[in-house]
Amino acid sequence: MTVVIAGGGVAGLAMALTCEQIGVDAVVLESVRKLGPLGVGINLQPNAVRELFDLGLADDLDAIGIETREWALVGRNGNDVWAEPRGRYAGYRWPQYSVHRGQLQMLLLHHVIARMGPQAVRTDQRVVGYETDAEGVRVATVSRDGAASIIEGSLLLGADGLHSAVRAQMHPGQPEPQWGGAVLWRGASFGKPIRTGASFTLVGSMDQRFVHYPIASVDASTGLQLQNWIAEISFDPAAGWRSSDWNRRVEVADFLPAFSDWNFDWLDIPALIENAPAVWEFPMVDRDPVERWVDGRVCLMGDAAHVMYPVGSNGASQAIVDARVMGAQFLEFGITTDALHSFENLLLADMSDLVLRNRGHGPIGVLGVVDERCGGVFDDIDDVIPRAEVERYMSDYKRAAGFARDRLNNDRATIRPGSRVAR
Ligand SMILES: Cc1cc2nc3c(=O)[nH]c(=O)nc-3n(C[C@H](O)[C@H](O)[C@H](O)COP(=O)(O)OP(=O)(O)OC[C@H]3O[C@@H](n4cnc5c(N)ncnc54)[C@H](O)[C@@H]3O)c2cc1C
Repeated sequence: MTVVIAGGGVAGLAMALTCEQIGVDAVVLESVRKLGPLGVGINLQPNAVRELFDLGLADDLDAIGIETREWALVGRNGNDVWAEPRGRYAGYRWPQYSVHRGQLQMLLLHHVIARMGPQAVRTDQRVVGYETDAEGVRVATVSRDGAASIIEGSLLLGADGLHSAVRAQMHPGQPEPQWGGAVLWRGASFGKPIRTGASFTLVGSMDQRFVHYPIASVDASTGLQLQNWIAEISFDPAAGWRSSDWNRRVEVADFLPAFSDWNFDWLDIPALIENAPAVWEFPMVDRDPVERWVDGRVCLMGDAAHVMYPVGSNGASQAIVDARVMGAQFLEFGITTDALHSFENLLLADMSDLVLRNRGHGPIGVLGVVDERCGGVFDDIDDVIPRAEVERYMSDYKRAAGFARDRLNNDRATIRPGSRVAR
């Protein structure tokens, strides 16, 4: 009854921990030789934090994350468009956290190994294909030295991310990732706390933006904190883009000139960019939604199923929620194809909508309205867009992304404590 999980990212490791919690054997096959703390900042919405708490990770998460207090949209001239409290500060029962992606991945990995043993994560095992029939799945892997293996199991979950090999076999004709024209440059630098000291702040317009949030506490000796930032510029998508690798390092000179005068009295963007020890470039890509995630005993999850533009801060959150929803289906239907179909029925339509909604820039679309109405320059935002209009925009997005406050607060747990899959 082993569940084979392709990919040891956020989705795959959260899936392994969920399997362990409900008494299901699982093994993670990861392509890299050694998992390391790669990436920069990500946000975990309360719906995902709830699931991590239910996995017993509350204290660890609090130790690596910064509890977000505020989410703010700021115009190109440095004036507020919108600011709202977040997480517990907004009345949720669970916090929203900003964390370093790599630290989150290492935290999950640590707990998988502590709870399931080191054999639960097999690295240097790139999944290259699968066979599925009534009896089970056979998953083909290749290591860097060319050694091939077959791993057998009851089900295969494809949690192998944007360039998923599992998805490529399931949907052989799928086009390359779709690039909408935006490029993200990501880094983390030490800077003085801004606003609440725990604010997610997005400054700019639809064509050019800067996202900023702290991912560590203030160092008492320096008064500085590590701050994640993303500089973003939109280009003509017809020009095409080179590669969609999350780990392409570049020089700041490639984009710093475009931000050289983005220095407000409360936030010095050029200084933050220049202070980053390393900068990574990522073209904002997603994939067209597909009509199915299930092929026999195989199912996609996380980015492999529904990679989306990172504009709503919910790629990693949804990867965690996927793992928990899958666990709940195992509890209801056992380790069966019925569980996979039920997972697909519950999530595919909503996630496909969300992928397309994020192409429309998700909650940041408010900036597009401001651009249209006043070219992004205003003294008093109430003269440009009524508060009720922004409020509607924000609550629509939260509902679509599964973190509308009252619904989440009143929802029963995805997996009740002590639940075990019947053998
Ligand atoms: C190296 C890296 C850095 C990232 N940095 C950021 C960031 O800074 N900010 C941000 O918002 N998002 C970042 N992301 C994306 C973010 O982690 C995901 O959008 C989100 O967490 C969903 O997670 P996932 O587990 O579905 O996919 P991912 O996090 O992409 O994990 C997929 C895992 O599968 C492994 N894998 C891939 N192909 C195979 C294969 N054929 N066989 C076996 N294993 C395979 C990968 O090595 C990876 O460990 C990054 C992703 C990666 C892989």
